[in-house]
Amino acid sequence: MTTRTVLVINSGSSSIKYQLVDPDSGESLASGIVERIGDATGSITHKRAGERTDITEPVPDHGFGLSEVLRLFDEQGPSLAQAHVVAVGHRVVQGGHYFSGPALIDDDVVAKIEELVPLGPLHNPAHLKGIEVGRQLLADVPHVAVFDTAFFQRLPEEAARYGLNRKVADTYSIRRYGAHGTSHQFVSGEIAERLERDDLKQIVLHLGNGASVSAVVAGRAVETSMGLTPLEGLVMGGRTGDIDPAAVFHLVRVAGMSIDEIDHLFNWESGMKGLTGQQDMREVWRLVDAGDQNARDAIDIYVHRLLKYIGAYTAVMGGVDAITFTAGIGENDARVRAELCKRLDYLGVRIDTEANAVRASEPVTISTPDSSVVVTVFPTNEELAIARQALTLI
Ligand code: ADP
Repeated sequence: MTTRTVLVINSGSSSIKYQLVDPDSGESLASGIVERIGDATGSITHKRAGERTDITEPVPDHGFGLSEVLRLFDEQGPSLAQAHVVAVGHRVVQGGHYFSGPALIDDDVVAKIEELVPLGPLHNPAHLKGIEVGRQLLADVPHVAVFDTAFFQRLPEEAARYGLNRKVADTYSIRRYGAHGTSHQFVSGEIAERLERDDLKQIVLHLGNGASVSAVVAGRAVETSMGLTPLEGLVMGGRTGDIDPAAVFHLVRVAGMSIDEIDHLFNWESGMKGLTGQQDMREVWRLVDAGDQNARDAIDIYVHRLLKYIGAYTAVMGGVDAITFTAGIGENDARVRAELCKRLDYLGVRIDTEANAVRASEPVTISTPDSSVVVTVFPTNEELAIARQALTLI
């Protein structure tokens, strides 16, 4: 029987994702999602030990949604009382300059997350709703905020500061905050443990629908590709990644577009979707296989951007010992991995083609023993990482 668990909550503007985690074994005991909060047709899916319960009902607000989740735990199990929940861990995207690690939630922490809303306008208000109803409905356990930005809060100044006018940057808090930090920290930590080395120079490629790359030296993040917002860096499912900011001025002046239209274009209608019509990498590959030239070009652009970042980060660190692939594309897309690694030959990267072909739910080393860089596919687990971080404050 489990001795202790953490309930992890990721509250979005119209959804609540949750998972009950055993932080010691790493096992997920139950998980689910409340969707379309505030819509006429809401839904809740609750999963435990291979069983699944689906409810379709209007979910007027986050409070109702979470109370329904607690009812499902009661009725379908596992019983939260018996699971001995020792903490609730809340994912928070933007921790700004305040948080370099997890924070035990009190009114002061809530006020700071609120203060950071202008830097995380899509996410922080939604997290605050989750935190508010969570603290009401689960008042007996400590609540901990775990920030996506925390791992990057102590980036070296030369990596965090843009070449923007200092006064303007400081007045408006414009700097590199990064994102996906929980994943980069978790994966780089696990790799250091696997390789039994605490001095590693690592590059972590978190390639999901959103994608980012980080450079980590001896456990400390020294660079990351997402910036003030998650828009910067790699080519993503729907985001441009790096683009000359003057494209914004150009679109305002020449195309007469509004700032909101450009925001939408760059964040939702660009990247693989904007280049090919398909956001999902599996669909992009289908187009490639059917001979679609735009899709082939898009893959080349995607891999080229990765190659540039790996070169840059290797230079920043003065070498690289380990490169790790994680998240949806990183864990599953052997072709992207193969195309990229082939072009890392100059670094002494050698890939075992058979190992690379495996679709892994477990970590797999895909480099050969004589490769000068250890290349691993490592499934990320942000819920477990949040649960373990929350525990450090209990
Ligand atoms: P996020 O958490 O950012 O939504 P994920 O890490 O779940 O994203 O990754 C989702 C993406 O992973 C999908 O959009 C898809 O492009 C990609 N993906 C998932 N499975 C595969 C696969 N077998 N081959 C290629 N890409 C895949």
